[in-house]
Amino acid sequence: MKKRLMIDMDDVITDGNFKEQIEEFIGSKIDFKKTGYYLQNALGSRKEEFFKKGQLDMYKDAPLKDDAFEIIKKLNEKYDLYIVSSFIIKDAHYQEGNHLKFKIEYLQKKLPFIESKQIIFTDNKELIDFDIRIDDSIRHLSKGEILLLFDAYHNKELSKEYLATKNIKRVMNWQEVANILL
Ligand SMILES: [Mg+2]
Repeated sequence: MKKRLMIDMDDVITDGNFKEQIEEFIGSKIDFKKTGYYLQNALGSRKEEFFKKGQLDMYKDAPLKDDAFEIIKKLNEKYDLYIVSSFIIKDAHYQEGNHLKFKIEYLQKKLPFIESKQIIFTDNKELIDFDIRIDDSIRHLSKGEILLLFDAYHNKELSKEYLATKNIKRVMNWQEVANILL
């Protein structure tokens, strides 16, 4: 039986364009040290103005991460693969319907070999059993045989030693994922 593999979407498959949209709106670069995981913290008091300006397509013209297409395609043959992604937008729940639509459209366009039954939207990824998990948030790496933390702006502080205590290994890119899983 194939092992069950979970792959997160945001900051793992693609960086989207949320960062660029916010930077254009505020007219300056985001300071990740100040925002932490939630980039919308950079909006300050203009949060509502930003989210209410129209449909928010966080994936418009966003590329996949380097090598993601080829490697996910191979992983899809070897493993029982699922893309598992949250669709909750902190501070802007009224945008979630659009967000979900844009997520699905992006995955269908960029990873056409992934079937709809392989896409799961939830913020509670621990409810589902996976043998292997790839995510940029350690919150979603609490159980499994192989736990890979995808390097991202908000997780750089976590040391190798700390991650080792949780049986988590950091990967810098998709090539490193391939080296471990293919
Ligand atoms: Mg993510």
